[in-house]
Formats: sequence, C-alpha cells, structure tokens
Amino acid sequence: MGVTDQTFQEISPADFFYRNKEIAGFSNPARAIFSAIRELVENSLDATEPLGILPDIYIRLSSLNEGEDENIYVLRVRDNGSGIPVDYVPLAFCQFLFSSKYKLKQSRGTFGLGGTMTILYGQITTNKPVKVISSTGGQKIYEYVLMIDIERNRPVILERRIYNNDSKWHGTIVEVNLEGDYFKAMPKILEYLKQTAIVNPYANIMFIDPKGRLYKFERTVSVLPPPPKETLPHPHGVDVETIYRIIRVTKCGTLLSFMQEHFHRVGKRIAQRFLEFAGFPEDADPKKLKPEEIVRFVQAMKSFNGFLPPDADSLSPLGEEILRAGILKELEPEFVAVTQRKPSAYSGHPFIVEVGIAYGGKISSGEDIILYRFANKIPLVYDESGDVSWRIIKSINWRKYGLMPGMPFAVLVHICSTKVPWKTVGKEIIADRPEVSREILNGIREVARQLSIYLARKEKIKRERARLSIFAKYLPKIAELSTKLTGKEKVPNINDLLRRAKKFEED
Ligand code: ADP
Ligand code: MG
Repeated sequence: MGVTDQTFQEISPADFFYRNKEIAGFSNPARAIFSAIRELVENSLDATEPLGILPDIYIRLSSLNEGEDENIYVLRVRDNGSGIPVDYVPLAFCQFLFSSKYKLKQSRGTFGLGGTMTILYGQITTNKPVKVISSTGGQKIYEYVLMIDIERNRPVILERRIYNNDSKWHGTIVEVNLEGDYFKAMPKILEYLKQTAIVNPYANIMFIDPKGRLYKFERTVSVLPPPPKETLPHPHGVDVETIYRIIRVTKCGTLLSFMQEHFHRVGKRIAQRFLEFAGFPEDADPKKLKPEEIVRFVQAMKSFNGFLPPDADSLSPLGEEILRAGILKELEPEFVAVTQRKPSAYSGHPFIVEVGIAYGGKISSGEDIILYRFANKIPLVYDESGDVSWRIIKSINWRKYGLMPGMPFAVLVHICSTKVPWKTVGKEIIADRPEVSREILNGIREVARQLSIYLARKEKIKRERARLSIFAKYLPKIAELSTKLTGKEKVPNINDLLRRAKKFEED
C-alpha cells in the first residue's frame, strides 16, 4: 500500500452549495428564512423593473404548525414580472449556476444561485418539492412541481400542468416549504422590506406574516430608473481568460478591428495608439497570438492609460427624484438631501454612488448615526461594521456640520455597479476600494453640507422667534409706560408693529 489511501471525487455545483450553505446565507433557520425572502423578492424585482414593469410583489409566509413542525413554513412569492419561458423554468430554479444575468450590466442577482439555493434549502429541510407557476403573457400558464437532483445538479420534474391564460397574465409565483425561525428573523425581515421600499418606491410590496399581519409598502412614484444596457468589457477589467474567450469567438482578422469590436469605448484612434504602445502590429491576427503574447497583451491593456473611462449605460442608478421619494415615503423626515455622484470606475468596472441624508421627523435618535447601505438597489442589513461606508461615517467630523451622533439623522449610501466590490461571498459588506470610498466620502460631505445649511437656518429662525416673543411680552408694558411718561391718554395700537415683526421673521 502507498503512503496514502486517498480517494478522489468530483462534486456538482449543487452538492457544493449543499455542503456550504452558509456561503449563500443559509447558515441557520433564522438566517435561512431571511435569505429565502430576500432572494425571491430580488428575483421578482429583477424580473419587473429593468423591463419597464412597475413591480407588484406579494409575499406570504405561513406556518404549517403540524404538531411538532412549528418551524416549517410555506413561503409564497408572486410577481407581475416577465415570467420565465416554459422550457427554462426547471433549469432556472433547480440547477445551480444557471442564470439569465451573466451579462455585463447591473442586476440584483449575479451568481445564478439565490433562488435555487432557497429551493435546495427547502428541499433538504422539508423533503418537499417546490411549486413554480409562470407565464410570459402568452396563451398558457405553466405550473411545475420540481425537486433538485443535488448530486447531479439537475432538475427533477415531478408534475407539469398547463392552464389557459385568458387574462394574458404575466409573472411568476414560487411556493417553497422550508424550515426557519421567523420570530427570530422578523426584525431583520421587516427592516429589509422597509429598506427595499426606500430604494424601490415605484414598487408595491405586500407581506403577510405567519400571524396573518399585513405589512404594506405602497408605490408613491410611477417612474422607473433607467434600464441598464449590456456592455462590452473595459480593457482595464480583462484578464487572460477573457481574451481567450473572445479570441475563440471573434470574426476579426486583425488586432485593430479586434480591439474596436470587442472592448468598451475603443475606437480606431485609441486602438491604434494602444497597439503602438503595446508593440503589436495593427494587422496581426488575434487567433495567432502565442500564450506569452496574450499575457503581454493583457498587461499592456491594464497599464495603458489612453483608454476612455467606462460610461454608465450599463448601470441603473435610482436618480435623485426616486431616492428622495423613497426616503420621504419610508422615513418621513423633516428634511432630506440627496445627491448622485458622477460615474466613476475601479479596475475597469463602472460604478455610481448615490447618497442621501434625512433629518428629524419620524427619524429616531439613537446613540449612533443611523446608516442605510444599499448595493444595486438591495438593502444590506447584516454585518454593518465591516463595511466601507461605516468606516467613512466614523471618520467624518460631524461637528463641522453642526451634527453629532445622538441627533435624529440617517445617512443612506447606494452604490451601483456591474461588479459591486463585495468583501465576502455573502453579498453583505462592501470592500474598501479607494475609488469607491472617495465617492462615498464626497457624497456624504455634500449632503451633510446641505443639512448643515438647513440646520443653521432653522437655528436662526428659532433665535428670531425667541427674540420676537420677548418683544411681544414687553411691548405692551413699554407702550403703557411710555404713554404714562409722555402724559398721553391713549395707549398706541401695537398690534400692527407685532404683525410687521412676525412678517419679517417669516421672510
Ligand atoms: P440569479 O438571480 O443570480 O440569476 P437565481 O437562482 O436566483 O439566480 O435565478 C436563476 C434565474 O431564474 C434568473 O437568472 C432568472 O432568469 C430566473 N428567474 C428567477 N426568478 C424569476 C422571476 N420571479 N421571474 C422571472 N425570472 C426569474
Ligand atoms: Mg436571484
């Protein structure tokens, strides 16, 4: 016998996520129920908003309560989205790493696993299949009952029914059984829904919890963010593998056309300059590049600074109007300021930072500053302390703005990108990239300045008012006294004077 008796084995992607559930946010029953809701809601938002549909999302969580099974729930999420083409339903929901979102444009889902993970978790905790009902708005509605063959990462179709779709309904309903701990997860779930409503004020979201309580988040704007457009890779963001993949499919016979055809914002002049910089002839055939030449080509791409920065067409930021509407609707503050920073890029990935500040009204004052974080219109409600925005909030000298922790104000930071710089796979914390943190810092400073102007003005008015009230208190006495002193009979009418002073204050 040799030194080892190892056996080797290959596992499927489904099996991998089965063994590593915590990676996808399913580490315990409380977290699992939170993640299940989050993943299905995000799929619903992705299936509506970018397609120009105002989202109507209905979430119902009911407890099965069969004797001991207090922790088994049925989660049903319904949307009015695009629906899923009939043949794709089983793959979309029961095969890991199968997605319509592996594209270079902003979306909520990106890994091809959120919805599928929810179903896998449901299956391994309850041994029950998932039910999916969907229609793309055509003649038929399809209903599937499905399970996942975890070892093979394949869907198993248990039942399939077809209904007529007379009303031309389009959308998707997912119904999954799963083990969870709703009451432990409840604060986070409600927080998640509220914050989802802040950044999606164009959505109607309804949630019925296991106790039958209804939480309603109503649409207050009917405009949608600009839909993202698919884009080509930026030369600063590519690696050797990307170049190989493009070479495999390209029809371009020269490097000059190759550069212009496959990369973001590369025109003829820039392509020529780059090739000269990199030391490759313009008419070289990309398919004939040797491995070491490809490495040199990629290195040159990264170090050439004559490329144009990525444009923001692939992004779908909220815009100031929607962000303001969302904040006003859910936080009901006395004052709000928002700003959208100019598009920027890190490592060839475009991003936009949007920041808001809200003060007073229904915002409560706690010990710490309230921070709401969002990435690609998803609220991030776990693991706050490791996030770049939190570090920046802590580094700011708030007194400079007439603010300090303990005052009722909240800061919102939204970053959208084709590649959000996540710190971890859990999609909860944003890493500290200097390009990104600079924009966050400048955004916060800008809205803080606006709030500081508002507060200074408010303070001034308060002082004026105080002066006026002293004035109003003593004026009658002064009038009386001066009347006596001057030996006049009739006290002058002071009402007019008071009214004029009040008017001055209001201006
Ligand atoms: P991801 O969202 O990362 O792509 P998921 O496993 O959550 O991965 O979903 C897989 C695919 O299923 C999606 O890319 C999408 O095409 C489709 N899908 C999921 N939910 C819906 C829905 N509610 N409406 C339309 N399509 C959906
Ligand atoms: Mg998803």
